[in-house]
Amino acid sequence: MWFDKWSVEGPLYEFISRRDLYDARLEDTLTVDKMILNGEWSWPDGWLDIFPRLANIEVPNIHFGKEDKVRWLTKTYQKVDFSTSQAWSDLRDEWPSVEWSKVIWFKQFNPRNAFILWLAVHDRLLTQDKMAIWKENADFKCVFCSVTADNHEHLFFQCAYVKSVWRELQRYMFQMQGGDRMQSVISNLARFKDSKNIGVIVNKLMVAAAVYFIWQERNARVFKNQIRNKEVLCQNIMDSVRCKMMTIKVRNTRNVQRIAELWNLNWKECRLQAK
Ligand SMILES: [Zn+2]
Repeated sequence: MWFDKWSVEGPLYEFISRRDLYDARLEDTLTVDKMILNGEWSWPDGWLDIFPRLANIEVPNIHFGKEDKVRWLTKTYQKVDFSTSQAWSDLRDEWPSVEWSKVIWFKQFNPRNAFILWLAVHDRLLTQDKMAIWKENADFKCVFCSVTADNHEHLFFQCAYVKSVWRELQRYMFQMQGGDRMQSVISNLARFKDSKNIGVIVNKLMVAAAVYFIWQERNARVFKNQIRNKEVLCQNIMDSVRCKMMTIKVRNTRNVQRIAELWNLNWKECRLQAK
């Protein structure tokens, strides 16, 4: 009822607080069908005055006994099954051309990685700091270091474990600077956003892949209790970037040679290839 976007007014928690639910003695976990009585909404007294947006929500036609399903609303307002590629193509044209857009979306980008990076830049992943608003007494701890609840800055840059991952990756990046904050890393990449330098492309691929794999690893640990060690995680990130690098057409310049050496690749017939 409160967290999913099932109505035209979006997720209701955006304007109804936990305190409001508590005062009305409503459960966090309430489902939509429980708020309907004889085909009408059974809003608590006064809610339609405090939250006039509720009046915009029609009583949905609930098919009892059927499983709920997550659907994606496309740009042309069609409901389809969710897929990353569909979401990406719907959202891509909508974004203003801000400084970081070419850091995320560039010719050689990986859609899956870019999508997670885009969400991360917008602080839109469901990290523990957000979950804590709704689970007041829960004791959230970062799955990597167990020191503090995770949030975007911590999870991707500040955590000691993640910092050691970046240190390892940096050996394969090209004069990568930007420090340990999302904003500074992205801004730094944005300074060279139009560059066709292979080093800049590798840096952009690495940042997107690192954020994607760190998020994936965090979720595997939280939800599946599966743990990869740091070396394997770094290797997975490198392998994904290496695959992408080998698809890019490059000339045999000094920069390309330098990157090829760093990654143990050979230049052959306009591509980098495994030795
Ligand atoms: Zn941590």
